[in-house]
Amino acid sequence: MTEILSSFCAGTWHTPGEQDGARAVHDPTTGELLHRVTSAGIDFSALVDHARTVGIPALRELTFHQRGVILKQLGAHLMERAKRYHEISFSTGTTKRDAFVDIEGGIGTLFTYSGVARRQMPNSTVHLDGGVEHLSKGGSFVGRHILTSRQGLALQINAFNFPVWGMLEKFAPMFVAGVPVVVKPATASAHLTRAVVADMLDSGLLPEGCLQLVCGDATPLFDHLAEQDAIAFTGSADTAARIGSQECVRQRGTRFFAEADSLNFSLLGPDAAPGTEEFDLFVSGVATEMTVKAGQKCTAIRRTLVPEQHVEAVAEAVAAKLEAATAGDPREKSTRLGPVISTGQRGDVLDAVDSLIAAGASVVTGGREASDALSKRLGGGAFVAPTVLRADDPWADAVHDVEAFGPVTSIITYSSTAEAVRLAARGRGSLVGSVVTHDRDFAADFVRQVAPWHGRILVLDRDDAEESTGHGSPLPTLVHGGPGRAGGGEELGGLRGVEHFMQRTAIQASPDMLTAIGGEWVSGAERRLGEHPFTKSLADLRVGDALESEWRTVTLEDIEHFAEFTGDTFYAHTDEEAAAANPFFPGRVAHGYLIVSFAAGLFVQPDPGPVLANYGLEGLRFVTPVSPGDRLKVTLTAKRITPRETDEYGEVRWDAEVVNQDHEPVANYDVLTLVAKE
Ligand code: NAP
Repeated sequence: MTEILSSFCAGTWHTPGEQDGARAVHDPTTGELLHRVTSAGIDFSALVDHARTVGIPALRELTFHQRGVILKQLGAHLMERAKRYHEISFSTGTTKRDAFVDIEGGIGTLFTYSGVARRQMPNSTVHLDGGVEHLSKGGSFVGRHILTSRQGLALQINAFNFPVWGMLEKFAPMFVAGVPVVVKPATASAHLTRAVVADMLDSGLLPEGCLQLVCGDATPLFDHLAEQDAIAFTGSADTAARIGSQECVRQRGTRFFAEADSLNFSLLGPDAAPGTEEFDLFVSGVATEMTVKAGQKCTAIRRTLVPEQHVEAVAEAVAAKLEAATAGDPREKSTRLGPVISTGQRGDVLDAVDSLIAAGASVVTGGREASDALSKRLGGGAFVAPTVLRADDPWADAVHDVEAFGPVTSIITYSSTAEAVRLAARGRGSLVGSVVTHDRDFAADFVRQVAPWHGRILVLDRDDAEESTGHGSPLPTLVHGGPGRAGGGEELGGLRGVEHFMQRTAIQASPDMLTAIGGEWVSGAERRLGEHPFTKSLADLRVGDALESEWRTVTLEDIEHFAEFTGDTFYAHTDEEAAAANPFFPGRVAHGYLIVSFAAGLFVQPDPGPVLANYGLEGLRFVTPVSPGDRLKVTLTAKRITPRETDEYGEVRWDAEVVNQDHEPVANYDVLTLVAKE
């Protein structure tokens, strides 16, 4: 009997017994039976309970930074094992080159999110969203948004085409957000996901209960999900609709995110005639997107939009490029085009091609007969010949609606920018569009018009081509997802991807209460004066520790000296008459940078001590002009303290408020310093 894939639930591996209905998974190249998959016998109630009662408390023990450090270590742990994942990946029909996007690309998201957690979030369990809103005249009532981890689990249901990336690009932001994760991989490639999940669990890096795996049918889980849980789905629009209509989503408020299929376009700009660099880039892009992963990419170019006058040239050039893409066993180094994931998928792709032809498309290259011949030549594997169709009617519904999830694209002609915009939008919302043009006016006009239908747009030309990551690659720092048909979801995008699994709450309170809740000092809250705060290490420093400086008078000599010394002789500082004619100044005024410099002279503690460096200012505003004879005083308050997990120091952000003799604010800003822990 062939192996039945095990699942990891409630802290143990569960291997189903011999069950009817287990789905057999075959190597799409050789046809070999690999294993079978079923979730029979899993106690879904125990699984959910484990996530809630073990996973959530364990994750809450960790700050965002501690989670970030774990992600980095986990990334290194998996990277050491990448070779084995590549071996397994061959049995999903993927060439080594294509598997890099899945395996190394997936592991890369762990490193990116490690950075997001440690650089963009506090070393705490509460994340602040935006600034303070002043809600009252007297300043005793203020508001601010905070983000906290939701008290539920995140179920990821993934598509078959990126068994590693698809799992890790969701796991990373979910883990940073502090929610336990349940992974449900697509059956056809679950064995690769399982291998990675097993290594993640074996690493000993993850808190217990924060990662579980269900191979096979996960639908019984839906009965256990409620308002604090989330489902992050990737797959076809049909399945998305089915899951979106589950009671947990409709009635019990489970958050549902869908990344569905998408009829992405790439457009050749009107300027990019044959012979231009852009024409060649376009042709390469279309051919590459067809052959990478055998076209089984949610971001692949399904609709190739070209100006009427270039249609023949594009068809010919793309077909010629595709001829050079050697099809075969993905284990062979020379292979550029592997099989699709299964013979079933092959049937679906060819059926979709037939329906496009029935709707008026003609075959430029590829199609069913060519695919049958290719498959026969390669020993009967699930091969589909790269297929370029030409839609004779650009407005036919099918070409904007039928997704052939394989190495297939349709060439569609357009005659004007307005027509190109309307055609691009006929996809009813896509993950990605690309426009290949060197004409900035055209690009600006076109992109602004099609952006509402797309989650990401690549503008490719001779200037960015060499370093461009291409049409098909979602990047962890940029959002992945699209409106409408593409599912309406949004993943990745740095911090944005974390926020989906947290709850945003508007807190209304006094400044002192808001300081206590958010962990960041808020203007109007208590300040503790006393020992100079620069003499305190992170062990002693507290948010709200403050210094009020002496007064310093700004003289005309100071201003003239500063002007001469720095070379900043702008008339507002040097010419009384011209300065007085300026609508903002009463006459000659002090340089803003002079004010900031004097402020530093007023607050600084000169002796060697725990403050190691000043690495910048943020949010600097000069509010009231300073005239010769004015007096200045600065108040410095420890606003946020962020100890680093892996260093002997941390960041301290100080609120600096400079006022004049009438106690009017002159300048406000944050001073950023590095301070020793001890
Ligand atoms: P699929 O058939 O929709 O399956 C996706 C996932 O849903 C699989 O894990 C599948 O499990 C599961 N599933 C199927 N029916 C379900 C149900 N009734 N309830 C709960 N889960 C269910 O899609 P696929 O064939 O794996 O992937 C190809 C499709 O995904 C293409 O249409 C492609 O465009 C889309 N895709 C989109 C993105 C994106 O980011 N937008 C990325 C990749 C792929 P089983 O495998 O066990 O059936």
